[in-house]
Order: sequence, then C-alpha cells, then structure tokens
Amino acid sequence: MSLNEELKNILTDTERFLKQQQELYGDTMIVSKSEPLSADSTQKSASASTVPAALEIDLFGNTSQPTTIHHKTGEPILPAFPNESWTATKSLEELNNVINTCMKCGLGKTRIKFVFGVGNPKADVVVVGEAPGADEDEKGEPFVGRAGQLLNKILEAVQFKREEVFICNILKCRPPNNRDPQTEEIDCCEPYLWKQLEILKPKMILCAGRIAGQSLLKTNSSLTLLRGKVHDYRGIPLMVTYHPAALLRNPNWKRPCWEDMQQFRKLYDEMKNGK
Ligand code: URA
Repeated sequence: MSLNEELKNILTDTERFLKQQQELYGDTMIVSKSEPLSADSTQKSASASTVPAALEIDLFGNTSQPTTIHHKTGEPILPAFPNESWTATKSLEELNNVINTCMKCGLGKTRIKFVFGVGNPKADVVVVGEAPGADEDEKGEPFVGRAGQLLNKILEAVQFKREEVFICNILKCRPPNNRDPQTEEIDCCEPYLWKQLEILKPKMILCAGRIAGQSLLKTNSSLTLLRGKVHDYRGIPLMVTYHPAALLRNPNWKRPCWEDMQQFRKLYDEMKNGK
C-alpha cells in the first residue's frame, strides 16, 4: 500500500470515529462520570433535571457540565409558544394546512415537500426524529428511507405498528446534504412540533437520536446521558434512544437500542394498565 493510500485509510477511519463520537456526544466528549448510570436511577428519574452530573470536555480541553435550564422546582424551563395565529388551531389537519407553506427559515426555499408527520391522530406514542432526508423530502412523509425501514422494525420488535403511532421530526423541511439542523432552523420550526404534541396528547414520546432529545428537553446532554432514563416533556414521559441512521452505521448499537425499547414498552404497558 502506498503512503498516500495509508494516509487516506487513516483519515477515513478517523472520520468514522469522530462521526460516531458526534452521534453520541455532539461536539463534546465525555471523559468521566461522577456517578454510574444504572437502571435503578433510570426508574426514579422523572425529568431531565435528574441527569447525573458528568464532566464533559470539548475538543479544546475546556470542561463543562451539561446544562439544562431549570425552574427552582427542578422542572426544565420550556419556551413559550410564539404569538402566531397557527397556535390557535385545534386539529392536526388544520395545523398542517396553515403551516405547510412556511418560509420562516431558509429551508423553505430548498424543500420539495413540507414533511408534517404521519400516523394515528389518536396515537398513544409519538416518535420524534431529526429532520427529513432526501426520500422524505420527495414523498412528504417522515422516515420512509432506509432509516425509516429500520425504525419500522424497531417499533415492531416491541409490538408497535407504524400506523398505530405518530411519527414526525424536529424540522419539517430537509436540511441540504443532510447536514445537522441549525439552531435558527430549530428555533423557527420546533414550536410546530410542540403544537402537534399539544393536539396529540400522547402517553409517551420516543426521541430518535441526540438532536431530537436535546431539542425537546432543552439540554445539551450527550446521548449517553439522555438514554436509559425517563424524562419529562410538559408532563409527558419521554425517552431517548439511538437514531436508526446511526444504527445503520454502527450495528453494535442495536443491542443497547433494543434494551431502550424494552424499557419504553414496559413503561408504556404499566401506564396503560394504570400502574
Ligand atoms: N431521519 C429523520 O430524522 N427523520 C426522517 O424523517 C428521516 C430520516
């Protein structure tokens, strides 16, 4: 192998490793935990405020605690709805009709279709992903590509049918080249999701991936800290697991994802049975 080829391989491996780290931690790396994450602490936890303290270090060596903005009571502070007319809508159909021509951010200009969400309007479970990809942009439906096929399998593995739940995203329009959503795009678009959740009133929310979890919970905690706990989104239990696209890249995360889903299903059954 030539030196050039060797260097290329090293770069490819490094890129893959960094991408994996970013999927878990965002732009920070966990270097130590002050207390172990156990299934027990998971059960007790009712909100993002109970995420154990962990020291995170960025690529420049600066350390910080993950932050979530809290009320004095320990409840995370979630932003208020904007003062806009669509907030008065009463059904998903009505909401979709008034927001699907949105041009609040630059993605309005580049989208093919606005991807509102799909599923049972009486769903007990809402799955929240990150943003539409190329297939979703073309069809106007979330999770229809390869990641979507895997999401269907993940749901089926714990006896949820795709048609039975409601599936949507933080962003309703596709970011070009599937890049991560930008803060301004999330700020513009996420209130639509809050309204969807207000109308749907699900019993539980499943966030697929770090970005969905961080956005809804208003925290910068890593996926590693967000997983395996029951958080609280405006009174609704919320759990975070791996994004199916990350599982396609890293099949060794399928096992912990399966464990998350078992926990999600168990909690759902307990709630259904009024325990
Ligand atoms: N990834 C997402 O987060 N959402 C989709 O709809 C498709 C892929």
